[in-house]
Amino acid sequence: MGTRGRAIVGMDVEELLRMLNQAYASEWLAYTQYWLGAKLIKGPMKDAVAAELTLHANEELAHAVLVSNRIIQLGGTPVLSPQGWSAVSPCAYDAPEDPYVAVLLDQNIAGEQCAISLYKGLMDATKDKDMVTYNMALAILEQEVEHEEDLQSLREDLQLMVDRGSK
Ligand code: FE
Ligand code: FE
Ligand code: MG
Repeated sequence: MGTRGRAIVGMDVEELLRMLNQAYASEWLAYTQYWLGAKLIKGPMKDAVAAELTLHANEELAHAVLVSNRIIQLGGTPVLSPQGWSAVSPCAYDAPEDPYVAVLLDQNIAGEQCAISLYKGLMDATKDKDMVTYNMALAILEQEVEHEEDLQSLREDLQLMVDRGSK
């Protein structure tokens, strides 16, 4: 923990750490959901979608690195177990039980929408209070917004393909 770095945070640090751990836990769930989905996926456009899911998995892992570093800087402890990720995360883990492309895309779109709300909340809470966390949350939010659009655009392409193919 950096003592001066922690002292300049203009909000309750324990509350901030609680929010950061929610984000941290959500990133691991997102990573796992994407990683498994990319392996199991079946159906039209599966290669293109699997490539995007794999890329997103790696980006979620990079978010977990950023958030865990910030937690440690502030003197906190990242959630220590996979059981803890589910308990702490406000975003649900959707097991890829049905490997059909459209189902996986919809599950991961829901995950991204939860992540967007989560980082928006973190930015609102840290604005003018903790510039370091604010800046990190902004960088991650930019990527979550991109993820949502990537998946929604693939979902739209898939739907066009299915609709036209059935005529
Ligand atoms: Fe993420
Ligand atoms: Fe994401
Ligand atoms: Mg992408």
